[in-house]
Amino acid sequence: MSRRTAFHGFALPRRARALPPAVAARTPSPELARQLLLKRAVKRDAVRSSGRRCVYCGTSVDLNSATLDHVHPVARGGASEFGNLVAACAPCNRLKGDLLPHEFFVRYPWAGVNFVRYARTVHRALKRGARRAVSLAMAA
Ligand SMILES: [Zn+2]
Repeated sequence: MSRRTAFHGFALPRRARALPPAVAARTPSPELARQLLLKRAVKRDAVRSSGRRCVYCGTSVDLNSATLDHVHPVARGGASEFGNLVAACAPCNRLKGDLLPHEFFVRYPWAGVNFVRYARTVHRALKRGARRAVSLAMAA
């Protein structure tokens, strides 16, 4: 895959968007509102970059049904950054829990296959690890 295709999923928000009024009313501080907006922007890009699919099971997701998954879990030292965040459906996110990606993919090879296919904007090391875990699981 060329560098160009691999990175074309990053899209900057065209303009600042406001939180839905119902959410804004429940948000106590401007700082928290700012973080929420940022998270929504990241999620929007993650959903867009995976072609509106859960990167683990391939089911269709939209901005409301998708969750942001840390491929390398925060609990195990992963960062909240581009390259580690993907769109996943809630059941897959729960299933993965705090498993490291290779642990998850060895246990559920179908998730690894979909991940290689749909997670276009993750670090290439994560993708390489997924490919390795899938072939390990297939060989077993
Ligand atoms: Zn899923």
